[in-house]
Amino acid sequence: MGNKIIVAGGGHGGIAAAMLLAQKGFDVTVYEKNAADKLGYDWTDIFDRKGWTAVGIPIPDKSKYKLKQDMTFYGPAMETALTQNTEDDKKEIQMERKDIYAHLIEYAEKAGVKFRYEEAVEKPILLGNRVVGIKTDKGEYLADLVIDACGLNSPVRQNLPPSMGIQNNPVEYEQFYVYRAHFNKMCEVEEKDKFKLILLPNNELGISWVATEENHTDVLIGRFFKFDRDYAISQIDEMRKLNPSIGTDILRGDSFANIPVRQPLGVLVADGYAAIGDSAFMTVPVIGSGIANSLKAAKILADAISNDFSGSYSAETLWNYQKNFYKEIGAALAPLACIKLLLTRLEGPELDYIFAKGILNAEDMTIDADSTSLGAMLSGMSLDDIKIKLDGLINNKVVLGKVVKMGLQLARATAVTAAMPTSYNRKTVLRWVEEYNSCFKR
Ligand SMILES: Cc1cc2nc3c(=O)[nH]c(=O)nc-3n(C[C@H](O)[C@H](O)[C@H](O)COP(=O)(O)OP(=O)(O)OC[C@H]3O[C@@H](n4cnc5c(N)ncnc54)[C@H](O)[C@@H]3O)c2cc1C
Repeated sequence: MGNKIIVAGGGHGGIAAAMLLAQKGFDVTVYEKNAADKLGYDWTDIFDRKGWTAVGIPIPDKSKYKLKQDMTFYGPAMETALTQNTEDDKKEIQMERKDIYAHLIEYAEKAGVKFRYEEAVEKPILLGNRVVGIKTDKGEYLADLVIDACGLNSPVRQNLPPSMGIQNNPVEYEQFYVYRAHFNKMCEVEEKDKFKLILLPNNELGISWVATEENHTDVLIGRFFKFDRDYAISQIDEMRKLNPSIGTDILRGDSFANIPVRQPLGVLVADGYAAIGDSAFMTVPVIGSGIANSLKAAKILADAISNDFSGSYSAETLWNYQKNFYKEIGAALAPLACIKLLLTRLEGPELDYIFAKGILNAEDMTIDADSTSLGAMLSGMSLDDIKIKLDGLINNKVVLGKVVKMGLQLARATAVTAAMPTSYNRKTVLRWVEEYNSCFKR
């Protein structure tokens, strides 16, 4: 083989795909804008450990991770606590982001992947309708295929022509603007309040979390709108009143980042191009976890590439990646994007009502990166549970109207996603993606 593949950006899925392809004899180079020791964020992440096994990488040593604490969800009034109850073997793992990268890169380098750090990708190089390489701040490089793993604001995806049908940018309410910091820990808290996630905090559009860890308190402020550090600190000052474990000394983090919280990118491929990870918006829309999905997608992508014996890496041959990604992961994520849209339409008291009346309960909130299927959630409901939910809805016409609207949107999104073309034909795909994108209008 030996065909040349460029991975633009050191995203998790991109590096994992690079490793799998290098193992098959492809010549793969990753171009990453940061220095090797500056990769990833200064905090821990929670993800499904099956992400590792999907790409054939051993789960790291136990000293490198711990099991995730169950989360307790609150509405803005902080009155009803919905605590997840996840069995230990289903619990996600929590690891330092830097350790995740170190583990991934160790295996990628062993497979022969080359890394070029401190080289920023500026845009794709196009020949007609095909991506044939990348332009970086240091030069131009050609390849048989470019895998876009540059994340949410990928300059590769942003500079693709409309004729490819690939959405260049997310729209409003499709990303969380996030501030995160670790503070000194002032006191212990009850078991159920060790990891609190507040939806629509202070009736603001977004989420906040407070995780009281062994030696610090981890605070995250996520909003659907941009904000500055003063706003973040003022929100944390408010939170401190009800969460005395948050100290005032900042130990780590103290920085901003963005998370896609939307349906996956409608079209993932073009001639000479495939998007993965946050570049393709593969996070779980409500909770923003994207690491495990990126790793799982890497295996699907590497299989599609290595099974393209023509070596053309055209949209037609890469369509197997698109189809299998949606079958295994994407089709379950799209309906969750509709649930997220409901969250953006609710007023704080309406969400409090939904929690208080059991329209959503602790079991419903046991969403993780491995149980993203709405079908699984619905099939687990008892008749009594359904009755409680219906009673709650019938007694509040405004909430009922918003939930019905979401239900209709969700049904349409599910049907349109299922009707994805089975093979790539540009006209058909462009028509389909227009319809797919229209399912998620706020
Ligand atoms: C605050 C926060 C908390 C999160 N918590 C979790 C969590 O607990 N669990 C979880 O699963 N996910 C979490 N996520 C989401 C997670 O970070 C992503 O979904 C996941 O990393 C997959 O994205 P990625 O690796 O494709 O992209 P990214 O993580 O964005 O990586 C992209 C890479 O490309 C590089 N890059 C970007 N632009 C260029 C360029 N122009 N040239 C060269 N290189 C470039 C970047 O430096 C980076 O290394 C969180 C995200 C944030 C912001």
